[in-house]
Amino acid sequence: MRTYDVIVIGAGSVGLPTAMYLAEKKLSVLVIDPERGPGQANNKKAIGGVRATHSDYGKITTCLRSIEIFSTWKDIYGDDLGWMSNGYSYPAYNETDEKKLKDLMQVQHSYGLNIKWISASDYYELVPGIMMENLKGSTYSPKDGSCSPLLAGMAFYFRARKLGAEFKFNESVTDIILDKGKITQVITDKDRFACGQVINAAGSNAKAISNLVGLDSQVNPDNHEAGITEPVARFFEPMVIDMRKRPGSANFYFYQNFEGQVVFCITPEPSIWGIDNRSTSEFLPMCAKRMLEIYPRLRHLKVRRTWRGQYPMTPDGFPIVGRMKEVSNFINAIGMCGQGFMLGPGLGELITRICLDELKDDDKKILDSFNPYRTFTGMEVFK
Ligand SMILES: Cc1cc2nc3c(=O)[nH]c(=O)nc-3n(C[C@H](O)[C@H](O)[C@H](O)COP(=O)(O)OP(=O)(O)OC[C@H]3O[C@@H](n4cnc5c(N)ncnc54)[C@H](O)[C@@H]3O)c2cc1C
Repeated sequence: MRTYDVIVIGAGSVGLPTAMYLAEKKLSVLVIDPERGPGQANNKKAIGGVRATHSDYGKITTCLRSIEIFSTWKDIYGDDLGWMSNGYSYPAYNETDEKKLKDLMQVQHSYGLNIKWISASDYYELVPGIMMENLKGSTYSPKDGSCSPLLAGMAFYFRARKLGAEFKFNESVTDIILDKGKITQVITDKDRFACGQVINAAGSNAKAISNLVGLDSQVNPDNHEAGITEPVARFFEPMVIDMRKRPGSANFYFYQNFEGQVVFCITPEPSIWGIDNRSTSEFLPMCAKRMLEIYPRLRHLKVRRTWRGQYPMTPDGFPIVGRMKEVSNFINAIGMCGQGFMLGPGLGELITRICLDELKDDDKKILDSFNPYRTFTGMEVFK
C-alpha cells in the first residue's frame, strides 16, 4: 500500500492549489477525484470573478493573497490565466443600498481594501450606457478582477504534478479507516492508501466525506446558473453587481471577460437546494430581463450557452476551514459558498501551513472567521 504525507479529497477550486502548495513544501501528496480530470465539478462552473471586497478579515485577507497569486502567475510561471484587474462595482439605486455600501466601506478600509465610492457620472464612464435613473453612485474596487477557472485550475494542476503531487481521477473516496481517533487509511472504489493527514476538499460532497470519519458538517449545495455570450470588443470594465431583489432572484452580476464575452449569473430566491446540473428554461429569460433593465446596451448580444452548478453553502456564508479536534489528522476545507474559486489559492497556502503546524498569528486570525466550531448564527453581509 502506498503511503502519502497528505491525501487531498477533491481536485477542485480548493484541492488543486492546496496540492500544489503542499508539493512545493516537499510533502508527498495524493489527490483523489471521481471526475475525469482536474476542476471538472464546480470549479469550472465558476464565472471567474475574484474579489477581496468582502466584509470580514478572513475572506478579505485570503482573497487579497489569491489576487496576488492570480495576477502575478503569468509573470512567474508563464501561463496566461486570462487575468484582468477589471475591478468590482456595486451600483446603488436607492438610499438604503447606498448607506449599506458606504458603512461597509469603513470596515473594508480598516482592513486595507482599495475601494472607493464614485459618483453616478463617474460610474457611467466605467460602464457606458448603464441605467442612470435613480443611480446614486457605486463602490469601485479597481484591484479586484477576474480570470478563467479552467485555465487557472489546469495551471495549478500541472504545477502540482511537476512538483511531484500524484492524482487519481475516475476514483472516488468511499471510506476512511480510523484508529484511536486518527485516520490511518483512505479507501477508494479502486484502491486503499495510507496517509499522515487528510484534507476534505470535496465541495458539494463535503458532508458525505465528513460523515466517513463520524463527523457532520454544515455544508449544503444549492444550485446556481450562469451564462456566457459571444465575444465582442471591450465596452465596459468592472464586474457589475445589482443588489436589488426581483421576483425569483436576490441579486445578479455580470462582467466582460478577457476574451470579450459577457458572463452572467443570478442568485435564485428562494434557494434551490440539492445537486441538479440540468439548465432550466427559467434562468435565461429571468436573467436577460434583469440585464436589459440595468444595461440596455447588452440587448444585441447573443448568448452562447448556459450551465448550472452549485455553491457549497454554509448557514452563515463563511467557509469551514481547520483541523478537526475529534480526528486530529483530518482537515476541513469546505463550504466555500459562492467564492471557492477566489478563495482557493490563498487558502491553499494557508491549509499547507495548517498541515505543517506553521500557522502565523495572522493565519489564526483568518481561521477565526472560518472556524469549524463556530455557532453559525452570524451572517456574511455579502451573502
Ligand atoms: C454558476 C456559478 C458561478 C460561480 N461563480 C464564482 C465566481 O465567480 N467566483 C468564485 O470564487 N466562485 C464562484 N462560484 C463558486 C465556486 O464554483 C465554488 O465555490 C467552488 O468551486 C467550490 O470549490 P471546492 O473546491 O470546494 O469544490 P469543487 O471545485 O466542486 O471541487 C470538489 C471536488 O471534490 C470531488 N469529490 C466529490 N466527492 C468526492 C469523493 N467521494 N472522493 C473524491 N473526490 C470527491 C469533486 O468531484 C470535485 O472535483 C460559482 C459557482 C457557480 C455554480
